[in-house]
Amino acid sequence: MCGGRVDLSFVFRAFEKGADGVLICCCWPGECHYVPEGNYNAASMASLAKRLLEYAGINPDRLKLQWVTASEGIRFADTVTSFTKTVRDLGPLGSSEDLSENDLEARIQGVIKNIPYIKIAKRDKLLKHLENTDEYAALYTREEVEKLFTEKPSYYIDPEKCQGCGTCRRNCPVDAIDGDKKVIHIIDQEKCIRCGTCLEVCPPRFSAVTKLEGGVPVPPPVPDDQRAVAKKES
Ligand code: SF4
Ligand code: SF4
Repeated sequence: MCGGRVDLSFVFRAFEKGADGVLICCCWPGECHYVPEGNYNAASMASLAKRLLEYAGINPDRLKLQWVTASEGIRFADTVTSFTKTVRDLGPLGSSEDLSENDLEARIQGVIKNIPYIKIAKRDKLLKHLENTDEYAALYTREEVEKLFTEKPSYYIDPEKCQGCGTCRRNCPVDAIDGDKKVIHIIDQEKCIRCGTCLEVCPPRFSAVTKLEGGVPVPPPVPDDQRAVAKKES
């Protein structure tokens, strides 16, 4: 119904499923039918998606966002015709990029896996409304997108401080925290989307969650037979 509903994950899922190109058609700026003006959100999302494609070594021209309302039949037909030509000229996904099938899949999966974290990290920019929509193309820089991957933070629960209260586990949006009452909690780093909620909700008197930045490695989890919380806190 709305271009604003097109999530970053939809775009990369289409490429994952073998699409050679993705075209998103949105109503013109200022003509959104909905209060949040989803077409601006779509423009920001598409701009970020192009940078992510570039980061993955995929030609960003394989993704296009076009303003075209439902009543503009001729414009829609012209858009589809010209985008189809662009994609045909580029050839099947991976061919003009000189990527093997395995390499292509690994690169796309590398982005897909990080989409929840990327959406959190870029939440403010993804909601940005720029009056001059041409400026969306420069909203994200190549360096900024690279940093998303090279300077990804991690969250770690200090076993010496954790009191097994379960607050972080109950608030984690992706069930990435394992634990039980009076059991030291552990974050599954593969499932964690780096939202930072556990850091925010861990009671200050425990302050057991740490944000690790700058490539600091996450210490190994405590062995299962050492996870009972030793002393009781009032
Ligand atoms: S940062 Fe914490 S709350 Fe957020 S997904 Fe990771 S473990 Fe869960
Ligand atoms: S909220 Fe803090 S003290 Fe409670 S289980 Fe999580 S890390 Fe441990």
